[in-house]
Amino acid sequence: MTATIGASIFLFVCLPEPWNYLMIFNIFLLIASLIWYEVPGAKKLAARSTKLKVKDLDILAKRMGVNAEIYVVDLQNLGAFQVGAKGKYVFLTKKLVKTLKKEELMGVVAHEFAHIKLRHVLKKVLLFDVVIGTGVNMAIIVPIMNFSLDVNAMRALFLWGAILLYILLRHVIWQYFEYRADCYAIEFVDKEHLISALMKINSMLYSANFIEKGRVHPIIKRRVAKIKNCGGYG
Ligand SMILES: [Zn+2]
Repeated sequence: MTATIGASIFLFVCLPEPWNYLMIFNIFLLIASLIWYEVPGAKKLAARSTKLKVKDLDILAKRMGVNAEIYVVDLQNLGAFQVGAKGKYVFLTKKLVKTLKKEELMGVVAHEFAHIKLRHVLKKVLLFDVVIGTGVNMAIIVPIMNFSLDVNAMRALFLWGAILLYILLRHVIWQYFEYRADCYAIEFVDKEHLISALMKINSMLYSANFIEKGRVHPIIKRRVAKIKNCGGYG
C-alpha cells in the first residue's frame, strides 16, 4: 500500500498533464473497486453475528457449488443479503429466520447463493468501473482531443453522460440480477417456497389492512411473476 502511494506520487510529479491526473484517477478507482469487492466491514459484522449451522443449507451450498458462511444478524427488519465478490458471507436477519419456515429460508438462501454463483457483485463493480471510469477518463483527456466544443462543455458532457448512463444501467441490470438469482435458485429449491417467503416478506412491508386489500409491493409482485415464468433460465 505504501509502495503504491509512493509510486503514485512519483508518477504524478513526473508525468505531464493530463496523464498524471488520468493515472491518479485510475489508481483511485482500482482501490475503490477492491474495497467494494472485498467489503472489509463484512468480516466485522460476521464476528458480531451468529453463525447459522443448518445441515440442509450446507447440502444446498454444495449442490449449488457455493462456498459461503451464513450469519444471523440482530436486525429488526426482514432481510437477506450477500456481500463480497468472493462470496464468503450471506447475512440473514434474526427476524427473517424467526418468521420463515425452514423450506422458505432455503429459498431465500438459494437466492443469495445464486448471487454468489453468478458473480453479481463482481459484475456490479465492473459496470461502475467501465461506465464511470470511461466517462471520467474521457473528461480528463478532453484538452488533448480536438473537439469543436469548449473544453468545459465537453467535460460536463462526458461526466453527466456517464453518471446518467450508469444510473440507468444500474437500475436495469441490478433488477435483472434479482430475477436471474430467483430463476437460478429455483433450479435447486421448490419455487413455491421462495414465493411464499417473498409473500411473507411482503406482509412485513405493509400493514395488515393493506394486506387485506391484497396489496403486493411492486418489486415483489414482479419477482413472483417472473419466478412463475422462469422456465428457460439455466
Ligand atoms: Zn437478491
